[in-house]
Amino acid sequence: MTDPIVEEFDLYLAPAEREMVERAKEFGQRVVAPGARAWEYERRHPTEALRAACAEGFCGIELSPAFGGRGLRFSTKMRVAEELARYDFGFAFSLLNHHNVTVRIAAGKSALAERLVPRMLSGEAIGCSAFTEPGHGSDLVGLTTLATKVDGGWTLSGEKAWICNAAVADVIITLAQTSPVAGSKGIASFIVEADRPGFLRQSAYALHGAHAIGVAGFRLENYFAPDNALLDPPGTAFKATLSGINGARCYVAAMCAGMLESAIGHAVRYAGERQAFGRKVIEFQGLRWSLVDVQTDLAAMRLLAYRAARQIDAGQSAEESAAYAKKFAGDRTIGHIAACIQVMGANGLRSDHPLMRHLAAAKTACFTDGTTEMMNERLGKLMMHRYLVADVDTP
Ligand SMILES: Cc1cc2nc3c(=O)[nH]c(=O)nc-3n(C[C@H](O)[C@H](O)[C@H](O)COP(=O)(O)OP(=O)(O)OC[C@H]3O[C@@H](n4cnc5c(N)ncnc54)[C@H](O)[C@@H]3O)c2cc1C
Repeated sequence: MTDPIVEEFDLYLAPAEREMVERAKEFGQRVVAPGARAWEYERRHPTEALRAACAEGFCGIELSPAFGGRGLRFSTKMRVAEELARYDFGFAFSLLNHHNVTVRIAAGKSALAERLVPRMLSGEAIGCSAFTEPGHGSDLVGLTTLATKVDGGWTLSGEKAWICNAAVADVIITLAQTSPVAGSKGIASFIVEADRPGFLRQSAYALHGAHAIGVAGFRLENYFAPDNALLDPPGTAFKATLSGINGARCYVAAMCAGMLESAIGHAVRYAGERQAFGRKVIEFQGLRWSLVDVQTDLAAMRLLAYRAARQIDAGQSAEESAAYAKKFAGDRTIGHIAACIQVMGANGLRSDHPLMRHLAAAKTACFTDGTTEMMNERLGKLMMHRYLVADVDTP
């Protein structure tokens, strides 16, 4: 039985969008569920499953039909991510990053887009976006990868760290500084191709819970990016990056909801069978109530994420709503998955169940696309504006 909140939201989707969500449910059960445990414990990036997802059309969700995509709304992507994250957060995150890079490159409408987008749509070439550096994470404006203008293009030098899909990626949207004194106004973005000289890939990081994300770093050493590889000129890249991040905050929140629902489902089924002191464990009121707390916050988590998604679909600012959704999801998912494990006793720790994998992935979600502290910073500024500047009427 589907959560009525989800059912109601899916009715808001158009038939073609709902069909995509149904397809994600089927793909999740058929491909992600049986593969997830092996991806985690064998420490491998699920490149073949990512390509299979592309073959099913998941890379074309928001992509313009002019490039062979479906041109569907943001909410479809969010719901697809939520459904896939029930089985593996890492896989869903990897797929969405690849999808987003494909859409961004297509929007550039360059000759490079004509060459790269069809390969990305089919999954032959994998994409990622690289903002973070070993010395700069939250403080993005401080990034030091340098882009120097030369005849016919730009020379890029620097190092990137913690990049989803970088372990295998072929096409990388890379932020670089064109003028160190200009701050955010000097930042531009470039399409970097991994098979060109000057791109040096580093080994994948071994993660817990989200290994399928394929996180790695790379160095650029005098990498030559031709003029047509400039995606966002200086002065526009920073803003473009931040607007994409609001969407990511919203779908990461929905992905947390997907994992949490998986965890509570496992816990309730287990506790409905397991006997202790002559009763089913679910009959102990304290344990049952702890699961009701989980279910209550799951509902709130979905409502926050779905509200942000509707705003994004409508072209409205989701800056505040997406930050609320991600902050709430990050904070609550960790404790609530731990509560589900507690209900299952020691058996909840075993890798036969996905709960420990979900728990570690939930911690990951507190860093991707802005840390919880960065959400607090943003929300704090908006709160001060609301009560101190806009003078909201309070009794
Ligand atoms: C699984 C995973 C996938 C990722 N994928 C990508 C990707 O695809 N592309 C990409 O570019 N990056 C990616 N990242 C990097 C991610 O964006 C950064 O981890 C994040 O921006 C935080 O940077 P940091 O880890 O360097 O922490 P830091 O910025 O070094 O922060 C350390 C701590 O200080 C806190 N802090 C910093 N500034 C403040 C402040 N002003 N006030 C209060 N607290 C503060 C932070 O919240 C954090 O708790 C990924 C990260 C993970 C974990």
